[in-house]
Amino acid sequence: MPLAYPPFKSCPCGSGRSYGHCCGPLHAGQAATTPEALMRSRYAAYALGDSAYVQRTWHPDTRPATLDLRDGTRYLGLRVHGAQGDEVTFTAQLRLPDGERYALRERSRFTQVGGQWVYVDGDTPDA
Ligand SMILES: [Zn+2]
Repeated sequence: MPLAYPPFKSCPCGSGRSYGHCCGPLHAGQAATTPEALMRSRYAAYALGDSAYVQRTWHPDTRPATLDLRDGTRYLGLRVHGAQGDEVTFTAQLRLPDGERYALRERSRFTQVGGQWVYVDGDTPDA
């Protein structure tokens, strides 16, 4: 397990709900019911340094062999713009290891493997 995040604190994904009623159960093994729920839980896992969760919710064909989330990047906030079908568009506010702020805008694609949503890949949507 990565660091324990208090279930009563507001969820890192910015949903406004407590972690215990948002991404916490997914990190503990519950299946995500929608691509957006999975996307939010993956963002929260990045924010919490839970690389194992990020890895296991990544499609086997596109998943990196190793993933180090302890490079010093800070995850400052998430905004989901829309979810349609198997795609979710969002902006994540990051602070890079060199201190620079960066807004990562991505349209992510998801699919189901064995009945579980997984992340496939993403691109930068047209502004
Ligand atoms: Zn959440």
